[in-house]
Amino acid sequence: MTAVHVPGAPVIEDGLLVSTSPATGAEAGRFPVATEADVTAAVARAEAAGQWWASLGFTGRRERLLRWRALLARRIEQLADLMHLEGGKPVADGIVEVVTAVEHIDWAARNARRTLGPRRVRSRLILAEFSGHLEYQPYGVVGVIGPWNYPVLTPVGSTAYALAAGNAVVLKPSEYTPAVGQWLVDTFAEVVPEQPVLTAVHGLGDVGAALCRSGVGKLAFTGSSATARKVMAACAESLTPVLIEAGGKDAMIVDSDADLDAAAEACVWGALTNAGQTCIGIERVYAVEPVFDEFVAKVVDRAGRLTVGADGADIGPITMPSQLDVVRRHIDVALARGGRAVLGGADAVQPPYVRPTVLIDVPEDSAAVREETFGPTLTVNRVRDVDEAVGRANALAYGLGGSVFGRRRAMAAARRLRSGMTSVNSTLTFAGMSTLPFGGVGDSGFGRIHGADGLREFGRAKAITRRRARSLLPSMTFERTPADVARLVKVVKAMYGR
Ligand code: NAD
Repeated sequence: MTAVHVPGAPVIEDGLLVSTSPATGAEAGRFPVATEADVTAAVARAEAAGQWWASLGFTGRRERLLRWRALLARRIEQLADLMHLEGGKPVADGIVEVVTAVEHIDWAARNARRTLGPRRVRSRLILAEFSGHLEYQPYGVVGVIGPWNYPVLTPVGSTAYALAAGNAVVLKPSEYTPAVGQWLVDTFAEVVPEQPVLTAVHGLGDVGAALCRSGVGKLAFTGSSATARKVMAACAESLTPVLIEAGGKDAMIVDSDADLDAAAEACVWGALTNAGQTCIGIERVYAVEPVFDEFVAKVVDRAGRLTVGADGADIGPITMPSQLDVVRRHIDVALARGGRAVLGGADAVQPPYVRPTVLIDVPEDSAAVREETFGPTLTVNRVRDVDEAVGRANALAYGLGGSVFGRRRAMAAARRLRSGMTSVNSTLTFAGMSTLPFGGVGDSGFGRIHGADGLREFGRAKAITRRRARSLLPSMTFERTPADVARLVKVVKAMYGR
C-alpha cells in the first residue's frame, strides 16, 4: 500500500480498510480488516448459522430470499448510488446491474426445491428391485471471493444460489468495493436477523487466501485468472472444491448478412459499458471483409458520441488506478505494431478516465488482442469469412463469452465458439437470463453460476437406493449361487450383447 492516497486505491489505516471513489477520492466507507483468526471465527459462526438456515427448508429460505430481493428492488437507487460513489460506475449501469441481481435472487429462490430437492429417479432392469432417490445437500458454508467490477451481480450470482441451496455464505468482497459488499450483508441481515447466515470478511488478498484455508465446504471465486491459480493451489491443500469464474477476452463476430446498425450498437455497449471493465465485455471484433469498413464507421460514430466523466456520463473512471497503465500499454503497443486508432488512441488515457478507443488492423499477437485490457477500448480486425473469425476467436486460452451477429451462419458459429456462453445478435445478454448457466472454459475457469447448473454447483449430489422387493437376480451378495451367476450372464447377453 502506498502512503500517498491515490483516489480509488484501497488503503489500510489503523486496522481499517478505507475505500474511496476513483473519481473524487471521497470516502465510501471503512471496515475492520479481518485477521486469519477472524476469518476462522466467521466460518465457525457461519457453520452454526448454516445448520439453522438449512433447517428452514426450501420454503423458509425461499420466503426470506424473496424478502431480500424485495429490499434490493425497493432500495435500488440507494445501492446504485453507493456503487457509483465507491467504484465510479455510472448510476444507470448500477441500476441495470442491480436489476439483474434481483432477477437472479428471485429465480434461485423459486427454483431451488425443483432443482435440488429430493426426487425419485427411474430404476432400470438391472437392480429393478431398488428405488433410486436423489437430492442435493448443502455444503454447509460456502466462501465467496468477489471482484470489484460488478460488485453486486458477481457476489450475488454465487451467493443467492448458494443460499437458496441451503448454505451459509462468508463473503470476501474486493478491497476496491467493500462498502457495496457490506451493504449486501447488512440488508440480508435485515430480513434474516436470527443468525449470521451471510457475513463478510474484509481485507486484501491475504484475507481471501485465509478464507480458502478456513475449512469452508466450497469456495466460489470470481476474479482474475492469475488469482484463480493461487486460490486453487490454496484450496488443493484441503481438497476444498472450487468454482472458478475468471477473466476473459471475448470476441464478437460480424458476418456479411448481419444488421450492421444493430451490430454496431450492441458492440459499443458490450465493449464500453462499465468503461470496458466487464469480464464478458467485447474486447475484440472480427468482421468479414465486405462489411468491415461500414461496420467500423458505425461503431466509431456511436462510440464517439459517448460522454466521459464523473457524474451522469456514459463512461466513468477506471475503478482500479493501476489498470490505467495496462490500458495505456495495450494501446501504445498496438499502435507501435501497425494498428490504427480510428477513435481515441495514444492520448486516450487521462487518469482516472480513458476515452473510448477503437483500434483496427492490430496484429493478432499483440497484447491488445491477446490479454484482458479492461478499459473502454476495442480492436476490430478483418477476416475472410466466419470460419476464419471462429478460428481467431478460439485461438486464446480464455473462453468466457462471446457474440455473433448475422443470420444464416450465426447459430452454428455460436456453437463453435470455444466459450461458456454466446449471444447471437446481442451482447452480454446471457448474463441476465437467470435460467441459463454462466461460466467459462480454459483460463476463464470452470463450474457454473446461474440457472439450474448454478444451483447444483452449491449442493452435493446425494444418492440413495432403497430396496423395494426381493432380488430376482441376486448378484451383489455372497449368497448368490452359481445358477444365479449363470442366469445373470444369460440376461446380460440378451439385454446388451446384441
Ligand atoms: P483479482 O483476482 O485481483 O481479485 C479478486 C478477489 O480475489 C479480490 O477480492 C481479491 O482480494 C482476492 N484475492 C487476491 N489475492 C488472493 C489470494 N491469493 N487468495 C484468495 N483471494 C485473493 O480480480 P479483480 O481485479 O478484483 O477483478 C477483475 C477480474 O475479475 C478480471 O479478470 C475479470 O475478468 C474477472 N471477472 C470474472 C467474472 C466471471 O464471472 N468470470 C466476473 C467479474 C470479473
